[in-house]
Amino acid sequence: MTAASTESTITAWLATQQEAMLRVLEAMVNTDGGSYDKAGVDAVGRIVQDFMAEQGIPVEVIPQETYGDCLKARVAGGEALSSGNEKQQIVLMGHRDTVFPKGEPTRRPFRIENGIATGPGVADMKAGLVMNMFVLAAFKRFGGAPGPLVGLFTGDEEIGSPEGRAVIEATAREARVVFNSEPGRPNGGVVTGRKGGVFSVFDIEGKAAHSGGNFEAGVSAIGELAAKITALHALTDLARGITLNVGLVAGGQSVNTVAPWAQGQIDLRYKEPADRDEVMAKIHAIIDRAYVPGTRSRLTIKGEFLPLTQTSSAAKLFDLYCGAAGESGLSITGEFSGGCADSGFTAAVGAPTICAVGPVGGKAHSPEEYLEVASLVPRAQAMARAILRLDRAGL
Ligand SMILES: [Zn+2]
Repeated sequence: MTAASTESTITAWLATQQEAMLRVLEAMVNTDGGSYDKAGVDAVGRIVQDFMAEQGIPVEVIPQETYGDCLKARVAGGEALSSGNEKQQIVLMGHRDTVFPKGEPTRRPFRIENGIATGPGVADMKAGLVMNMFVLAAFKRFGGAPGPLVGLFTGDEEIGSPEGRAVIEATAREARVVFNSEPGRPNGGVVTGRKGGVFSVFDIEGKAAHSGGNFEAGVSAIGELAAKITALHALTDLARGITLNVGLVAGGQSVNTVAPWAQGQIDLRYKEPADRDEVMAKIHAIIDRAYVPGTRSRLTIKGEFLPLTQTSSAAKLFDLYCGAAGESGLSITGEFSGGCADSGFTAAVGAPTICAVGPVGGKAHSPEEYLEVASLVPRAQAMARAILRLDRAGL
């Protein structure tokens, strides 16, 4: 087949698959799988594996101890590259975990009404997974991919990919390009830049004492917490895109006890890769300092995302995607998002990355989360077209 006829064969086949996509999506949404529910996230993985088995696509399971296993589906593609690019893999990425508590699919199962699908994780990002699965199936069926395709399905993105990160980075190091199928923005846009984030917790130790009878023997951990919060929030620099938020606090023993302990949790967001170490050094200095003499504090990093930055090759990929999407009737804008995602890890190891190329939806992480059903097919077609044109774009 010529390149043009492969493109029309694949896009025509995808155009017939909306009902099949919705059946897989329904099964996935109705399978419980919050990030901490390994069994659930792995059950969602089995839906991926069963689908791939039906299509004759091999899947490698990369076991993870605490969170959902990583899955890598592979579809062979043309190995000889005219561009001389030795990194061949074209990576279609997505996460299977959701932010919702156990039992959510039973309380709020998959539904479609007036072209809008709802249910936990329907847009973020089970629809993106389904789209990636059908694009892989299309290339398996009709061939024509300009390089080997790798579908990477991870299990712990919503908590910062503590285990998945190593697999993502290793995959991205071999990647020619990465498409991350997080939901398209409500206006159909994709994401070309994202902030980085560091999520940490600090514990403060003080000394308990009766606040009436023995006040002066106490060392208030809550007094220290208050001073630290003020200092941490003062590191916010909106002009540079740096924000600090102590979003959770706890502490104390009783109202008539000088507080022997306290804890705060910090969400740091930043734009420029170089800002990360600078701000973390300032955070460490604040945590190490005792504003209330006699307190001791410790900082623990719980999770982290790197920023997605727009390199010149990522800009090329964005232009290529816009052109490809245009032929599926979509007009695409690139947006910057303060939200973090796995695309930051792939960009940080040098893989040209485009994010939020999944079907269009919104209100993620809330009961109002929705997916525009009619966007499933055109977004899948846009991705397939973009893949077929990588050589021509010099990527
Ligand atoms: Zn997501």
